[in-house]
Amino acid sequence: MVHRDVRRICPLCEATCGLLVDLDKDGPVALRPNPDDVFSAGHACAKGLGLAATDRDPDRLRTPMVREGGRLRAATWAEAFAAVARRLPPLVAQDRRAAAVYTGNPAAHHLDHTFYLPAFLGALGTPNLFSPASLDTLPKNLATMLLYGTGLGVALPDLDRTDLVLLLGTNPLVSNGSTVCMPGFGDRLAALRARGGRVVVADPARTRTAEVADLHLPVRPNSDAHLLLGMLSVIAADGSACLGAADGLVDGADEVLGLAAPFTPEVVAPVVGIPPETIRDLARSFAAAERAVAHARIGTCTQGYGSLANWLVEVLNIVTGRLDTPGGAMFAKPPGGGPTTWPGGGKLLTGRWHSRVRGLPESLGELPAACLAEEILTPGEGQVRALVTIAGNPARSVPGSEHVEEALASLDFMLSLDTYLNETTRHADVVLPAPGLLTHGHFDLTLNHFQIRDAARWSPAALDPAPGELPEWHQLARLTGILRGDPDLTVTAFDDEVADQAIRRAAKLARRPEDVVRAAVEPRRGPERLLDLRLRSGPYGDRFGEDPSGLTLAVLEEHPDGIDYGPLRPRLPDVLRTPTGRIDVAPEVLMADVERLRAGLEADAAPDRLVMINRRQRRGMNSWLHNALPHRTDAESALLMHPDDAASRDLVDGDEVVVRSGAGQVTAELRVDDAIRPGVVSLPHGWGHDGGGLRMRRATASPGTNVNALADDLVVEPLTGIAIFSGITVEVEAHDHATVPAAAR
Ligand code: SF4
Repeated sequence: MVHRDVRRICPLCEATCGLLVDLDKDGPVALRPNPDDVFSAGHACAKGLGLAATDRDPDRLRTPMVREGGRLRAATWAEAFAAVARRLPPLVAQDRRAAAVYTGNPAAHHLDHTFYLPAFLGALGTPNLFSPASLDTLPKNLATMLLYGTGLGVALPDLDRTDLVLLLGTNPLVSNGSTVCMPGFGDRLAALRARGGRVVVADPARTRTAEVADLHLPVRPNSDAHLLLGMLSVIAADGSACLGAADGLVDGADEVLGLAAPFTPEVVAPVVGIPPETIRDLARSFAAAERAVAHARIGTCTQGYGSLANWLVEVLNIVTGRLDTPGGAMFAKPPGGGPTTWPGGGKLLTGRWHSRVRGLPESLGELPAACLAEEILTPGEGQVRALVTIAGNPARSVPGSEHVEEALASLDFMLSLDTYLNETTRHADVVLPAPGLLTHGHFDLTLNHFQIRDAARWSPAALDPAPGELPEWHQLARLTGILRGDPDLTVTAFDDEVADQAIRRAAKLARRPEDVVRAAVEPRRGPERLLDLRLRSGPYGDRFGEDPSGLTLAVLEEHPDGIDYGPLRPRLPDVLRTPTGRIDVAPEVLMADVERLRAGLEADAAPDRLVMINRRQRRGMNSWLHNALPHRTDAESALLMHPDDAASRDLVDGDEVVVRSGAGQVTAELRVDDAIRPGVVSLPHGWGHDGGGLRMRRATASPGTNVNALADDLVVEPLTGIAIFSGITVEVEAHDHATVPAAAR
């Protein structure tokens, strides 16, 4: 029997579109956009509408796998947990640093992990925690933390009310947005232009977003900080700075403008690669617009000046009076609560410990993923010998893929919680499968911080786990018990323990007695009880009965299309969690890093280098959708090169080429295209589904090129340790001219 029109929030990306799902007992059979969803109003993309293919993928793991005689075989849950109990606790008994955990993006958006992973990590006790944050966002988190006091309290582009948007290093018409929840980005840009506004895109490639812009600035990779300094220099010289709504709360504006002053458009133009008068005009039109906002994403993060670029975007918004103003950069008020609504904060969560081998700094509780391989491969006290991966594929996400796979193969024990046997999990000793996508409820507590309207939406579980499937929080309960030496820890006891802590916290937040809070969330159990606690103690919550009109999970259940709290409203100064309660727009660590940029001006302007950037694809989500939604054509993973660069190398469209960097080399098909600026080539990321031991038949039939083999895990942005994927120096030549090692073919 098919159930129709089951509401579901798409869990795949920041747009968080509402979907209507038709499903049978085995999972979704068809999906449509939900026109009544209060947040996404009928938007959805091919990835979300392809969720049925993902969920019903015959290659998706449905039973645990255990390594025996060198090969992974299907096993029972009891066998899998017994193997973990036998091998993981002894490895960490002497030294907790012997374990590491890599948590992939999907886990950050799954309530089971949001609520129960901390208990598992506490039982493991290792400081070696890694995630894709150090592969895609850390500079933005650092800038946000230094200026506003938390890594999640990001100032969001209020696109629906602005007159001018400057987009740097982001291609939302393909990615659907990142670190901002804005379904239907393309329609919103079109509406902006229809009301007389302007869209400016700074990107080395004429992306789909750049194609719909009023102005495309084909900047050179790794030059966003230069462009922004040039703009600030003009604003400083013109005396056009004003602080707007942030006036009286900002320290250091004069200092940062003084620092920017020498970086005139003429000084930075050779690095940026666009004329100085264009930079000057842009600065003046940005400062003069009634409402304007600059927004930067991944291309500005994964580069050598990532922290500077992301800081300077905030500076530009602040000194032109855009912060906390409709049409400018505004803060969400997340219905599930979070660091920007909770009291406290004011701590700088960076540099509290360092990686063992290279001494890279911790940020927001994690070490840079670029040092994962060396922490495993380098002998000595504290060497990582056991790894847990959760919904992540570091073998294709982390730079220096060859290094990473060598490291994974050398481990004494590896446990993976995942849906596939992919390039990472093929090295595991035990793999625990995730149940179907509709077997758990969905409310994205992380992405609540990035919504461009405050809204609350809840998708309850639509199906029971299939026979043999185990909810992820049940898996975490068993694993936590094993690590604590209490293998009989029941799921109920584990849940009650986590809930006790959450009840104490919620009671404090809502200023209500614990017994009242506990009774209010009865008889719920599991993630739903914990979510109810968050909602009811959150900024719209009912404070456990005190405000009968307030938000509860029961209220959300009565609103299957969600509750809209309206456009973002000013939140200064309450949103700030800095030690002073003010905004220091000139933090010492970032001001000092400008000297590094200044010292590199000449080298960065060198014209004769060919550099590589990554690109996003509409049907891809890093690596994990490639089996359900594989390449339509091999050309999708082709190397893009400008016609002038192709001609100077005697290359033509369709050639097979070798791309070589200091870290490695790959082969790819060439696509000659003037959409990319001269001196820059581009490959998509997440591909390279090759080698033995994979169970991803459609992906391996069209494996694509592994771009991360060209990224060097030893080269990182110095302030955050984020990996550098943008601006890698490469050489490209015809395949038949090159000597290609077998591994690169
Ligand atoms: S845009 Fe993102 S959230 Fe919306 S359907 Fe596509 S993948 Fe899902």
